[in-house]
Amino acid sequence: MSDCIFCKIAHGDIPASKIYEDDDVIAFNDIRPAAPVHFLLIPKRHIESMLTTSKEDEALLGKMLALTPVLAREQGLAAGYKTAINTGLAGGQEVFHLHLHVLGTPQQ
Ligand code: AMP
Ligand code: ZN
Repeated sequence: MSDCIFCKIAHGDIPASKIYEDDDVIAFNDIRPAAPVHFLLIPKRHIESMLTTSKEDEALLGKMLALTPVLAREQGLAAGYKTAINTGLAGGQEVFHLHLHVLGTPQQ
């Protein structure tokens, strides 16, 4: 998707504060953080939202969810964190490239 901002981040065409990357996914800090730690985990492949996922995306979605505690710990959130996936206009989604929010406050 040539006009998708998260595709551009995934392809390295625009900068992001990247915290993790592999062949399938990339994670970067949210530009308008709603918590002391707030990052987004996205698939590199363009998927519009949860509403457009299918059975073929099960492994990718499972991988994303399983990565959240690993990345959260690395960001200081070993004590816990919140996740959110805003889905569709009615779900408050603003960027139509699937992304998982991870938010939290590092504990002493
Ligand atoms: P939503 O689609 O409502 O789940 O939210 C999209 C999120 O993407 C918001 O929290 C934005 O602050 C964030 N965002 C938008 N553009 C960028 C960007 N270029 N880099 C990092 N985060 C972004
Ligand atoms: Zn995209």
